[in-house]
Amino acid sequence: MALSGLDIYKLLPKTNCKECGVNTCMAFAMKVAAKKAQLSGCPYVSEEGKADFSKTRENQIKQVRFGPGSGVLTGGEKVLYRHEEAFYNKPVISVEVSCKEDINARVKKLLGIKLNILNKEETIDALTVNGEDSSLEDFKKCIEIIYSHKRLPLILKMNREDILDYVIKNLPDDKPLICFDNEDINSYIEKIKESKLPVAAFSEKALQLFIDNGVEDIVIAFTGNYKELDSARKLALKYKKNDLAYPVFVEVHDYLDCASYICRYASIINLPYAEPEFLLSLFNLRDNIYQDPRKPIQVEAKLYEIGNVDASSPVVITTNFSLTYFAVSSEVEASRIPAYLLIVDTGGTSVLSAWASDKINAGKINKALKESGIENKVSHRKMILPGYIYPVKEELDEVSGWESLIGPKEAKDLGLYLKSIQSKV
Ligand code: SF4
Repeated sequence: MALSGLDIYKLLPKTNCKECGVNTCMAFAMKVAAKKAQLSGCPYVSEEGKADFSKTRENQIKQVRFGPGSGVLTGGEKVLYRHEEAFYNKPVISVEVSCKEDINARVKKLLGIKLNILNKEETIDALTVNGEDSSLEDFKKCIEIIYSHKRLPLILKMNREDILDYVIKNLPDDKPLICFDNEDINSYIEKIKESKLPVAAFSEKALQLFIDNGVEDIVIAFTGNYKELDSARKLALKYKKNDLAYPVFVEVHDYLDCASYICRYASIINLPYAEPEFLLSLFNLRDNIYQDPRKPIQVEAKLYEIGNVDASSPVVITTNFSLTYFAVSSEVEASRIPAYLLIVDTGGTSVLSAWASDKINAGKINKALKESGIENKVSHRKMILPGYIYPVKEELDEVSGWESLIGPKEAKDLGLYLKSIQSKV
């Protein structure tokens, strides 16, 4: 669990000497709690205090990465509740396919699901290949078919030794998550350990065996109920029960179940099926829960094209606060005037806040203009600024060589404004 500002304050000498650069020990403690300063910034913390602090920092769910290339990262959580700090690695959503079915069409359909969430394309993160009781030949064929579509992270369910051998020998670089559900796990522990592949533990005995043998990347295949998972996370983080501090793999029966486990602590969720309309809700829910509460929601700062733009289309400037982006882009869309929307990175703050904190200024807008490539896309050199930042015009025109047009202060007036200047751009 993350330490609160008050907990950190108790470790400090409370002399308010200001050597750390802030006026009081309490203010420094709050900065450390918010991860805006390091405890080492105070030279007077006792060795005991440092040890207590680092012990707490070490206490987190272990991180496990699986899949080809950078794959997917799971676990790594440090807190029970998001408001204590943030949740870091979104639950991996995997969909199960069976080696016994004709999977070509199914895999194609699943991998074809592409959902747009806050301008980011979201897809299924992984596939779970159920090779339990399959022949080795069927299993191999299944993997080949999947990889003929896409090399994505795989969770491999199996219970036969020949399949385990095949995976260890042939797929080490793809780093699949091995779910080897076999009572006789003792006989296979050496192979699993040597393979260095991530592995799911299906029983307490298997988990202990993996830990005792130094297997590094362990995931707990959780078969208990929702309340038990809640307790396990509490034990791992609050009471430092390290043998529970591993990412958790949960197999769910329906979307509602999946939503519950997104809200509470599953690291990898296996769905039996997937339809885009339900995944859209689940991905949105996941994004909301895993949004860092310390950072404003933002969109990617880049050049967006709205409608069928051409060289004469207007160029509208705004910030990357997501509400601002959506307000402005929807007004441009509604105006039916194709336009370029150049989003300046202001750390996710709105126009006025960005202006007040110097996160939008002539230099930053000019940099965004130059880096976006807009100068090769339009034949004119006029940009529309949000009305609130009109004082930037003179300097901006000088450094950029463009002419700034002062647009409306509110996004709702942008459509009318675009119509009014149509002939001027
Ligand atoms: Fe307090 Fe340490 Fe900062 Fe001095 S340096 S004000 S003792 S936190």
